[in-house]
Amino acid sequence: MDKRNEKNHIAFFYSIIFLTSNTYPVDTAKQLMEEFEGKPIPDVLSLLAQRFAGKIVFSTGFGQEGQVLTDIIFSHNLPIEVFTLDTGRLFNETYTTFQETLKHYKKEIRTYFPETIRIEELVSEKGPVSFYDSVENRKECCYIRKVEPLQRALAGKQLWITGLRCGQSDGRENIPLFEWVEAYRLIKFNPLARWTLKEVTDYLKQHQVPYNPLHDKGFASIGCAPCTRAVMPGEDIRAGRWWWEDAKKECGLHEH
Ligand code: SF4
Repeated sequence: MDKRNEKNHIAFFYSIIFLTSNTYPVDTAKQLMEEFEGKPIPDVLSLLAQRFAGKIVFSTGFGQEGQVLTDIIFSHNLPIEVFTLDTGRLFNETYTTFQETLKHYKKEIRTYFPETIRIEELVSEKGPVSFYDSVENRKECCYIRKVEPLQRALAGKQLWITGLRCGQSDGRENIPLFEWVEAYRLIKFNPLARWTLKEVTDYLKQHQVPYNPLHDKGFASIGCAPCTRAVMPGEDIRAGRWWWEDAKKECGLHEH
């Protein structure tokens, strides 16, 4: 069997097992953890891209962790789809970083928008900043602008790569490298789970990766403009997201 046929054969084999077994995905996440723990990220991504050919995606919001992984994927020419969710409410600096990233790597970043009709209904009925009025309204906006587009982006995929790190907040300290996500019925890979913030910023400097200038102004975690503020030194990194709420600071994209 030549090399190309061998790769296709392996990808087909894994796809069949993945799709026909109920317990396999959870076990697979554990097996992947044992197999790849401690291995260089480019090597792991390269192997996963073969194993989950056409079914592997990476989501970026152009934050500093996302830019590290974008750099690894694009500079190694890995066959992994990179996508982003444009909520329509991002910072100008985020759009500039998006544009600079396209120019820098000359690669495509697939972009998902919310459904127009749902945005029109939401804003007509409740106004443009209804998310400040209640947690329920905020979750409704996050669902329409983020969760539903994410569901479309992940449909039919088997492995989802993210830039989540344990150090990003108190709620994220136990993020595993690989985990089964029942909500989307796929495996999530968090290659930077054990990285420190310093390792991330050092990587960006060393590889001259474009990054969002808001990070230099105290914005640690960057989401939509009306829902993100800078944090003070020592504050939880996620404290700048939905700062007016006491509840857990997540938008429904991740369980952590
Ligand atoms: S972060 Fe704010 S503007 Fe963005 S989707 Fe959620 S509630 Fe809406």
